[in-house]
Amino acid sequence: MRDILHCDLNGFFASVECLKHPELKNVPMAVCGDPETRHGVILAKNDLAKKYGVVTAETIYSAKKKCPKLALVKATHSDYVKYSNLVNQVYLKYTERVEPFSIDESFLDVTESKELFGTPYEIAYKIKEDVKHTLGLTISVGVSFNRILAKMGSDMKKPDAITVLSKENFKNILFPMPISELLFCGISTCNTFNKMRIYTIGDLANSDITRISKKIGKLGCMLHNYANGIDSDFVELYGTKHTPKSISKGVTFPEDITDIELLSHIIRKLTDYISSHLRKKNLTCTIVCVTIKDNLFCVVNRQKQIFKTNLFQDISSVAIHILKENYTDNRPIRAMTVSVSGLKSQEDEIQLDLFSINQENQRDTPKEKIETATKTLDNIRNKFGNKITFGSMIDKNR
Ligand SMILES: [Mg+2]
Repeated sequence: MRDILHCDLNGFFASVECLKHPELKNVPMAVCGDPETRHGVILAKNDLAKKYGVVTAETIYSAKKKCPKLALVKATHSDYVKYSNLVNQVYLKYTERVEPFSIDESFLDVTESKELFGTPYEIAYKIKEDVKHTLGLTISVGVSFNRILAKMGSDMKKPDAITVLSKENFKNILFPMPISELLFCGISTCNTFNKMRIYTIGDLANSDITRISKKIGKLGCMLHNYANGIDSDFVELYGTKHTPKSISKGVTFPEDITDIELLSHIIRKLTDYISSHLRKKNLTCTIVCVTIKDNLFCVVNRQKQIFKTNLFQDISSVAIHILKENYTDNRPIRAMTVSVSGLKSQEDEIQLDLFSINQENQRDTPKEKIETATKTLDNIRNKFGNKITFGSMIDKNR
């Protein structure tokens, strides 16, 4: 059995702003997109604003109506990232298994920390006090034997609180709760459950899983497990990077296009975005896919394997090849997307395979030359922005 904590910062954006401007602590205040334009929405609020009924995601206009004296502060995202990192550094004093779930939430696996720091509840208490004293922020902690229950626990009491959901007590606490309170159970799933006469988490836990699976499929089975306190996902080591499955970039044209040269040019623009994105993330791809949608909404989707690469020249030439093979009848094209998959982190890739050497010989420009040019381009772009590009990308007609 694992011991998992879910730590959730209370009113995070608003709390950070109050740390920066202590005078805001004693007035109703809210953090929003842009108070100047009055178009923004409320992103976070302090407890005083909460008392006036100000809620997250409502418009500034409606919040001001409820509380005319509401002080508005523009969100400063870089500060929230900074504090988020600082909070995770505090968590890391207690375990190396800290997995940020969002900017203000992290999962911690403290199974191995008990010898040093005490019971899971005691560890939760120490962490909560540590965050308060070192950073001046409060957290709510859920303590349980898996991630789902820990996360549900942190939501039950706040601010500055700890909730324990143990093997012994979780059924008594969760089963009477409405099914809508179960994590990842959205409104439409809830409605389906209600039609099946499943109203509480306990109803779901005690229902027949094959019946659930028939109606709601995989998600239904997952929720049935959660209701029964079953979740075997583990907490990652801090800093574990995940490789995305694919990267894509698409565009819908203001007018339908029939000119193959113009379509090729647009492909170059799309692949330029994709390839520079790959390089930024230190990834390579092995599959290129082009999707074209014509004016009758008929979609053609074709892909080709290539040797692993993140170079613009490689990806764009394959993508244009796919386009030319599949666009021969001059029908009006409405939208186009290029995507790459088979993504691998470059750090894991050292060996040079035979296939890639073969392809090497077919290239007009030696690979090193292209790589050097690309690196130079990336460096210049880092300094001067994305306006800088390869000569082949410049549209000669306009
Ligand atoms: Mg929070």
